[in-house]
Amino acid sequence: MTEKEKTTLTDAEWRERLSPEEYHVLRKAGTERPFTGMYVHVKDGGMYRCAGCGAELFSSDTKYDSGTGWPSFWAPIDSDAIELRRDWSMLVPRTEVRCARCGGHLGHVFDDGPQPSGQRYCMNSCALKLEKQTPAT
Ligand code: FE
Repeated sequence: MTEKEKTTLTDAEWRERLSPEEYHVLRKAGTERPFTGMYVHVKDGGMYRCAGCGAELFSSDTKYDSGTGWPSFWAPIDSDAIELRRDWSMLVPRTEVRCARCGGHLGHVFDDGPQPSGQRYCMNSCALKLEKQTPAT
């Protein structure tokens, strides 16, 4: 399967493939509680992939400490890797971030991030899987 192909599974298949927490976030647009996710304070170098389909989403090079309790990045690895949607589920409209390959909900993006982009991709740890960089030998 190439990176650009869509991953389409039935709801039952997603349920089987994902942990209950991953399913709740990725497929039901849930949000993990702040400061509970496994990647909030992680500073390891590597590639954050989608926990649903494995697509490359964020490099550790763009991760920063936003103080919000969720892993935050100032840019995705590629603008094609993600899809943005207007989210009206709360009083104030937000911009939802989804994985472009499997449609999994990742989190939201806000425009109060650091330079150079000024954006804050506020992600759920359980929607991501860090593939650590193998140290150069
Ligand atoms: Fe995905």
